[in-house]
This record gives sequence, structure tokens and C-alpha cells, in this order.
Amino acid sequence: CGIMGYTGYRQALPLLLEGLKRLEYRGYDSAGVAVLEEGGLFLQKKAGKIAVLEACLDGFCPSGKAGIGHTRWATHGAPCDHNAHPHLDCRGEVAVVHNGIIENYVSLRAELVKRGHRFLSETDTEVIPHLLEEAYEDDLLSALRRVLPRLHGSYALAALSVREPGRLVVARRDSPLVLGLGEGENFLASDIPALLPYTRRTYILEDGELAEIWPDGIKVYDAAGHPLEKKVFLVEWDA
Ligand code: GLU
Repeated sequence: CGIMGYTGYRQALPLLLEGLKRLEYRGYDSAGVAVLEEGGLFLQKKAGKIAVLEACLDGFCPSGKAGIGHTRWATHGAPCDHNAHPHLDCRGEVAVVHNGIIENYVSLRAELVKRGHRFLSETDTEVIPHLLEEAYEDDLLSALRRVLPRLHGSYALAALSVREPGRLVVARRDSPLVLGLGEGENFLASDIPALLPYTRRTYILEDGELAEIWPDGIKVYDAAGHPLEKKVFLVEWDA
């Protein structure tokens, strides 16, 4: 039910946890994070409050400077550790967090299983990293653009790949997503309060838009892949 993402020059994990805490008012039953590390992914996810996730981290902080975090309000699949987000592809290279519901996930999942994909959760969300894995050549954003027409339902989603360090990609339909503009660092979140400790300069993503987020900039595109000129929305209130 909440999403937070960071790419920049600081260790990502504390920012992800802080952002998720600022989204706690939305309600949730599980929490998880994925941080891009040198040559791999750091993944931790737990049913329960963010405090449970923190207890499990036990003070450990991966060095990675890009990552995504999620608080889940279960719609498909029980609230348990393996259903918590992020979800991965078979290779463990692509991580995805998602708010919303993929309505046609049963048929997508059956099709993916037939093609040899193994699923580790009962969520609707897990079809997304597997579809990305199949569509992925060397560019996660174009893979995402190809996958989106296959997803029926609602989503705010963020993804990253170990093969593209520093890059986060996002898309939304019928579920909110906001991008935060920093200096040498950039952010994404499902709502503005998560961003306010870091920036007041935002892009409000609209339905059908995709974006790529790097430490030094954000680019927003329409569904066909044309770059868009987004207006900066300056947040003038406090959370
Ligand atoms: N439908 C997804 C799930 O049950 C996402 C729920 C949410 O928005 O947190 O895992």
C-alpha cells in the first residue's frame, strides 16, 4: 500500500525505511526492501510492522545507493513473509514493488508457469517480474513498456535490475505515484509525505506515464515512449 524508492549518493536503506514509515498511515500488513549492491541484490521482507523488518535487519545496512521499498496491504495471497514485496524474477536480477491489483494474473501466471517460470508467492504482483524477465534485453524501461499492455487492473509499480545499477523505472495506472527531485539524488513514493524530508520539488505521475529515475535526473515518457515535459509541482504544505 506504500512505495518508496531512492537512487543517489547515500546508502539507500535508511531512506527507504524512513519513507515507508511516513506512509504507515495508509495501513499495511507487511514490509520489504530491495537494495542494489555491487554484483547483486540485497532483499529483506517480513510480515508485520516496519519495526519487525528493522528487528530482522538488526542494524545491518547494505552499502547500495539505490533501492525500492514497499508496505503491503494484501489483496491476493495471505499476509506472510514470502508474499511480501519486493518480488523477483527467476534469475534474482529484477525486483518489483507494486500497489494495486493485477486482475488477469491467474491466466498470466498459468502461461508463465507453462514456459518454465517458478513462482515463490501467491500474489498477483509476482507475474510482473517474470514478464519483465522475458521482455528484458538490455533496457528495463523498454521491457516495462512492452509488459504494461499485458497487465489489466491497477498499478503503481517500481522496478530495478542488477544489470543497470543506479536506475529505477516506474509506471502507474489508477494508483498514485509521485517522483521527488533532489540534487545528485532522486526519489519516488506513493504519496508526498514520504518525500518531504528530502525535497519539495515533485513530478506527479499521471495514468499511462512511465519514468526512469537516475541519481542525476528523471525522465518521464508517455505509453508510446515519447519524452514528456513535466511541470514541477512545488509542495508548499507540511505533512
Ligand atoms: N495486490 C498486491 C498484493 O496483494 C499489492 C497490494 C498492495 O497494494 O499493497 O500483494
